[in-house]
Amino acid sequence: MSTIAFIGLGNMGGPMAANLVKAGHAVRGADLSAASREAAAAQGVSVAENAADIVAEADVIITMLPNGKLVLGVWEQILPLAKPGALFIDSSTIDVASARKAHDMAAAAGMTALDAPVSGGVGGAAAGTLTFMVGGAKDAFDAGRPVLDIMGGKIVHCGDAGAGQAAKICNNMILGVSMIGVCEAFAMGEKLGLSHQALFDVASTSSGQCWSITSYCPVPGPVPTSPANNDYKPGFAVDLMLKDLKLSQEAASASGAATPLGAAAAALYERFAAAGFGGADFSGIINFLRDGKH
Ligand code: NAD
Repeated sequence: MSTIAFIGLGNMGGPMAANLVKAGHAVRGADLSAASREAAAAQGVSVAENAADIVAEADVIITMLPNGKLVLGVWEQILPLAKPGALFIDSSTIDVASARKAHDMAAAAGMTALDAPVSGGVGGAAAGTLTFMVGGAKDAFDAGRPVLDIMGGKIVHCGDAGAGQAAKICNNMILGVSMIGVCEAFAMGEKLGLSHQALFDVASTSSGQCWSITSYCPVPGPVPTSPANNDYKPGFAVDLMLKDLKLSQEAASASGAATPLGAAAAALYERFAAAGFGGADFSGIINFLRDGKH
């Protein structure tokens, strides 16, 4: 049993911390929001408002925060307070440059570190089936793996510092682009008199096959569990997709990668969010495309 400090007990961090408690670890959690602290306390997390109050005894320190600036601010505050050699794991989705800076800060303070963003959403966090994409040294990965195994179903070591964040934004750029492509095809199929089911039956088993069709079909009917069957309630909200697409575009311009479709997807989701749909599921962009408001 380890002592684990968990900072950021929101929609994702709350259930992730709860799974660590269920596995028998002593978990101390911090969050600025009283509501998040109360929900985590009800799951057996011993809570505090400030991260600085929970890290001194911790073997592993996990952050699950909204952005890179917050992660760097919190790490700067707590690195001097942690036990020498403690393992810092950031599971937030943040920019690659900040992730690499966090690794450097940890190394300078005598700590080990991993960037370990996730996919799988709130459902995966609650079920302990998240996919972790991990960047950092092999020995840090081996040390962190038993803890990640509790919260995740699949743990992939992607490479050195920042490689986890790089994998996350590359994957989500594929998702944003592929969802728009699938939506365009279903909307055009409607104009051509093609039924949703016929297009699904062909495309889900042909060369157009992808997750956006087979698991998350953006029209009601063919995949009963997809948000299209539930009035496009998330699921995976447009604001989160837009965040990830913007991170992908920052990384593209910093690295000189050509991502014209990633840029187009970011621009479309930006317009969809600005039209008031930031809280809707990202597959709802089919309605925006169909209405010709893009
Ligand atoms: P959230 O807003 O629900 O939770 C973030 C929590 O951090 C909040 O409770 C907030 O009060 C707390 N916080 C902010 N600053 C703090 C500080 N200085 N000290 C302590 N607590 C602080 O967000 P979330 O949905 O849990 O997402 C967390 C991260 O996971 C984000 O980076 C997001 O992109 C990523 N992510 C989210 C999902 C999803 O489906 N929600 C999926 C994959 C990845």
